[in-house]
Amino acid sequence: MSSAPDTVHNGSLAPYAANPAGSRGRQHHEPAPAYRSEYQRDRDRIIHSAAFRRLEYKTQVFVNHEGDLFRTRLTHSIEVAQVARSIARALQLNEDLTEGIALAHDLGHTPFGHAGQDALNACMKNHGGFEHNLQSLRVVDELEDRYAEFPGLNLTFETREGILKHCSLKNAAALGDLGRRFIEKQQPSLEAQLTNLADEIAYNSHDVDDGLRSGLITVEALNTVALFREQYETVRSRYPDLAPRRTIHEVVRRLIGCQVIDLVETSKADLEQAAPDNIDAVRNHGKALIAFSDAMREKNLELKRFLRTHLYRHYRVHRMSAKAGRTLTALFEAFLDDPRLLPEESQQQTTLLEKTGGRDGRARAVADYIAGMTDRYAITEFERTFNPAV
Ligand code: MG
Repeated sequence: MSSAPDTVHNGSLAPYAANPAGSRGRQHHEPAPAYRSEYQRDRDRIIHSAAFRRLEYKTQVFVNHEGDLFRTRLTHSIEVAQVARSIARALQLNEDLTEGIALAHDLGHTPFGHAGQDALNACMKNHGGFEHNLQSLRVVDELEDRYAEFPGLNLTFETREGILKHCSLKNAAALGDLGRRFIEKQQPSLEAQLTNLADEIAYNSHDVDDGLRSGLITVEALNTVALFREQYETVRSRYPDLAPRRTIHEVVRRLIGCQVIDLVETSKADLEQAAPDNIDAVRNHGKALIAFSDAMREKNLELKRFLRTHLYRHYRVHRMSAKAGRTLTALFEAFLDDPRLLPEESQQQTTLLEKTGGRDGRARAVADYIAGMTDRYAITEFERTFNPAV
């Protein structure tokens, strides 16, 4: 028995929201789910995937072993989903689709955050490159092996569209239907647009929190940034005796709150003015309809610049990044040179991809294996590969 997919928990969708009844469907045909909408099924498949569980041990900014309280890619993804769902509900957009996109958006991330991505991209330079966003799509389209009837998770077009945030024209051409919007300069669904910005709200805010906790940045330095200073001054004047840690937590929650409110109000006004009839009108609209106000965008950029200079480029973060890059590069070279060093399943995959893609195929299989590693697995695998005493 299957329920009417367009009515499950989505009684009050705006006309421009993504509606499962109007979905562009899945790559492999499947009967409609019972008691769930198509987008709920996508979300559920993402939660049950191996790639999702691996996010627990992948770096956001701080490597897992540096402390238990820092964000990981898993807690980051859950925070993105929380922010994104609040925005979706406020704008009468599809919460299920939004949640699925948010939980899947970082599935293709390598171990060790951006350092890992940069190292793997350099390794793959002559073999088609490596891009974590494209890899997220590869994970859900091909690499997960959980279902008898199809490879990957066989997600709907709309979830896949939301996962693919950016794409070169060359890659877009190879992606067929999904890549077309980059060539034709169309917009994705509003759910995809808002999740992209929810990602920014989440990491800007939690990186402030984690940065302060680590001691790599200070409140004094952050007070040069308008967005932080405004919230900090409000909290200090209302609660002058509050302990420092609690003050910071109160500031961080307000940082999230003020950005969400700005985004909802600006987008609401833009949507009222543009009044798109349906999701196609959203896609054909000349620009994104989910946006911050100009003032908030400026403040946001200022905070981002601060975090880049003072946190992401801090020598201690950089030192770990450099180690991470060397670790992944060494593993990649060793595996590409001698695939027999790989576990059996990955060896089979290497042989398979080499058959169709030659040396590039072999390199792709090695990159898939490395990208799937957690931080600690990569560290252990490095030891096992290079240390004769292990
Ligand atoms: Mg993210």
